[in-house]
Amino acid sequence: MKHHIRRLSGSCHCGKIQYTVDNQPFDGDYCHCRDCQKITGSPVSAWMDFKDGQVTWDNEKPKEYHSSATIRCGFCEHCGSTLSYRHKKHPEYITLGACPRIGIVVKESWI
Ligand SMILES: [Zn+2]
Ligand SMILES: [Zn+2]
Repeated sequence: MKHHIRRLSGSCHCGKIQYTVDNQPFDGDYCHCRDCQKITGSPVSAWMDFKDGQVTWDNEKPKEYHSSATIRCGFCEHCGSTLSYRHKKHPEYITLGACPRIGIVVKESWI
């Protein structure tokens, strides 16, 4: 991916959960799967993948629930926004949404 964003940040709708990442994601994509549609309430979701240690959470961290046998979905308990998900088999990675610049980051993997 060729883009020039040095710092990415995102937050839930109410703003109680915020994150910043000073690294570029190692991957990013749009997902049209049924789970993402249900989780986000939209036909497509956009995600960026980081190593867990790269992400700084301000204030609170997302609560997590098991959206499937292998996925833990992170959300804000105050406003219900979806922020993240993690795969049980890859605990070293975290996938983030809820970033206003995500479209720029993920654009080049758009099909
Ligand atoms: Zn919130
Ligand atoms: Zn999906």
